[in-house]
Amino acid sequence: MPSSIWRGLYFIPFFDTLFAMTQTKLIIFCLILLSAVSHAQTTLENLLEPIWKLTLLDASTNNLMRREYAGYITLNTATNEYGIDSVVPGRWTLPGVGARVTVPDRPPDIPANPTPLDKPIYYVAWFHTHTPTTHVTFPHRPVGPSVEDYGISRDPRVNVPGFVVDFVAVQTNNIPPNSIPAGLSTNAPFMIYDISPPSRRPLP
Ligand SMILES: [Zn+2]
Repeated sequence: MPSSIWRGLYFIPFFDTLFAMTQTKLIIFCLILLSAVSHAQTTLENLLEPIWKLTLLDASTNNLMRREYAGYITLNTATNEYGIDSVVPGRWTLPGVGARVTVPDRPPDIPANPTPLDKPIYYVAWFHTHTPTTHVTFPHRPVGPSVEDYGISRDPRVNVPGFVVDFVAVQTNNIPPNSIPAGLSTNAPFMIYDISPPSRRPLP
């Protein structure tokens, strides 16, 4: 068979997968792809910014509701590239309620039990986004990792350091320190907070 046909066959499962994806998964996939193409050098910020943008987009398009996203950061030791994987949305949340997301179990490394000759992909950290307060009905909320978030880093199902993408705190007299008020614009500055102390990931 000519090599071009082999190439064609190679793409069939790719397109099958693409069509089988739900709309949300497809958007995440495209954003990740776009981010990977536009940034040869991956940094934490350009890995997580597309997921932050998706969180903001959701909050501005879905009847005042909002939802968090969570996933994992991978390190491919064959290419020395970081990536993101296993990204899931949380439930749609009403304006009067705090948003949360169920973090998936940390997937096994690839391969799960590497030999010294392998160049594995390791799942090195988990991440999630917090949601905008544009339409919330409570007056303010704290920014950065919650007590529960620290617990997730230590949870045996996860057991790696974490990151949360959230707004930069707003300093005013009307709200507590390290908080943002209700009605904050989705264009307000954001940052990546680490969820430390890192847990002790079992050595592969
Ligand atoms: Zn959180």
